[in-house]
Amino acid sequence: MASSSNPADDSALLTDLRGRAVRDLRISVTDRCNFRCVYCMPRAVFGKDYPFLARSALLSFEEIVRIARIFVANGVRKIRITGGEPLLRRNVDQLIKALAALPGVEVTLTTNGVLLPRMAQKLADAGLHRVTVSLDALDDAIFKQINDADFPVADVLAGIQAAQDAGLQPVKVNMVVKRGVNDHQIIDMARHFKGSGHILRFIEYMDVGASNGWRLDEVVPSREVIDRIHAVFPVESSEPNYTGEVAERWGYQDGSGEVGVISSVTQAFCSTCTRIRLSTEGKLYTCLFATEGHDLRAPLREGASDADLAALIHRTWQARDDRYSEIRTENTHSLKRIEMSYIGG
Ligand code: SAM
Ligand code: SF4
Ligand code: SF4
Repeated sequence: MASSSNPADDSALLTDLRGRAVRDLRISVTDRCNFRCVYCMPRAVFGKDYPFLARSALLSFEEIVRIARIFVANGVRKIRITGGEPLLRRNVDQLIKALAALPGVEVTLTTNGVLLPRMAQKLADAGLHRVTVSLDALDDAIFKQINDADFPVADVLAGIQAAQDAGLQPVKVNMVVKRGVNDHQIIDMARHFKGSGHILRFIEYMDVGASNGWRLDEVVPSREVIDRIHAVFPVESSEPNYTGEVAERWGYQDGSGEVGVISSVTQAFCSTCTRIRLSTEGKLYTCLFATEGHDLRAPLREGASDADLAALIHRTWQARDDRYSEIRTENTHSLKRIEMSYIGG
């Protein structure tokens, strides 16, 4: 079996059909959200009658930690908690505490930020290493049009401040750019976060899920984002922090920080993709665009041993051949796909 129980031993890593090791585990802890972002959980689909998962369907913290421990023994170094809105999961700080205690892992969390003023300190105390906050506009009217739940920008900015005050820095701020919706906010966002110590990252709008009505002409290529910023605040390319880093880094020439771009559509990075996702109800997805998951919950609840679960995980990763973004066409997005709020963004 191509695995290692020693996290420091890279010689026998679990690898997939394309030679990629499993390094990052993204765990979705809830499929619910207090926002209804138009590109993620459009209200027309995720309305009052939407059948969100029942509590009993969710993996318990004990189940999540058991799976995470097996992944860590097989090479995972980063765990990201996501959702849905992960801060809606009750006592999520207790989960973070247990995950942060696993050997050699960094635990991070992605959130819309509005619950951070209440929770940032608890999360930091639990051992969370860093936080990523999503914010798509600085203008209230545009932001409310996107989140479709009447949350003002000030609530998210207060969340970012709370994260900073709790020592969860630098905060990464993710902005999904959609042409004609918020692309005219690129410069305002850059200006706001320049010199703040936070790292703003622009994300190409992706064709995840099946409900957002994605169109290629609504994607603003990262190259264009950088050109627009460069025209106002000159930037230069920076070295990646590590091989396989998803965000491409650009530093302000005046030394006042950096921005990042994540070009999932125009410059696919599948060849170095080391991520696996664990859904809220315990299915493993080897790609954000996977159509089928591999169930771990049933074996878990039917008494599988750690060795049985490890064997399942090995089989799943070793059969992995995904490279959706490299082969995406205008038509592939009509395929049946799993929603991002369920699989974990
Ligand atoms: N609710 C949390 C949040 O919004 O940060 C965590 C889950 S959310 C699904 C994770 C990330 O996915 C967010 O930064 C969000 O902007 C991004 N996202 C959602 N739908 C997307 C899409 N269609 N294209 C690109 N990014 C998307
Ligand atoms: Fe909720 Fe995050 Fe999706 Fe927005 S992007 S609807 S905040 S899960
Ligand atoms: Fe990884 Fe799939 Fe995204 Fe490619 S499309 S980078 S394989 S998650």
